[in-house]
Amino acid sequence: MEEKIIIAIDGHSSCGKSTLAKDMARELGYKHIDSGAMYRAITLHFIRNNVNISDTEEVKAALDGVKLSFVYNELKQTSEICLNGEDVAHQIHEMIVAERVSDVAALKDVREYAVEQQRAMGIEKGIVMDGRDIGTVVFPDAELKLFMTADMDVRAKRRFQELYEKNPNITYEEVMANIQMRDYIDSNREESPLRQAEDAVVLNNAKMSREEQLKTALGWVKERTAKLAT
Ligand code: C5P
Repeated sequence: MEEKIIIAIDGHSSCGKSTLAKDMARELGYKHIDSGAMYRAITLHFIRNNVNISDTEEVKAALDGVKLSFVYNELKQTSEICLNGEDVAHQIHEMIVAERVSDVAALKDVREYAVEQQRAMGIEKGIVMDGRDIGTVVFPDAELKLFMTADMDVRAKRRFQELYEKNPNITYEEVMANIQMRDYIDSNREESPLRQAEDAVVLNNAKMSREEQLKTALGWVKERTAKLAT
């Protein structure tokens, strides 16, 4: 049997990281963890409880009241996040969360809280985790690291289509502005900024179909696992 590995996928907002991670996990029989969903669920909890994120003590106390878990959804064949036992997979993708998540994710206490759980989930390997700091901070020894990119307008169009289906009041400009803002905050924060790991393979999927990107990525997995076996 092939040795299981850790696959880290990082990149800018709305590059399709979670879609690829999900597809790879399904093909490989691995676990998929969308680390962005964790930061989004924490943000949702902070919004619901009116947490003042400039107050470190308040942030720490609020984190004590957060319990995150992933539950496998057979129908969708994917793991969905629960916040204190409640399925919040839909709510975390609302614009109000998208507007605040990068400020929450920049907080040291929030990152420590999330990273500790992410590392624990990778102990047995056989995991594909996507986010911003997975190959650089969470799993610096991951056997395969991908850094995904695509042109800004391609990303904005994709995200707009996704969000528009759920909320026809949303505008393309709004979506574009949110992606630009998150990219800026995520890349310029002090704690674990978004960076391409030195040993990451770059995947620009602007002109690739979902099937093509999966095929390419699975080719890299094969290469890595073959190398490990020798
Ligand atoms: O991946 P997604 O777009 O859902 O992530 C939402 C936000 O969570 C990002 O814009 C970023 O601020 C934060 N995030 C992070 N580190 C990760 C994953 C997400 O800071 N590993």
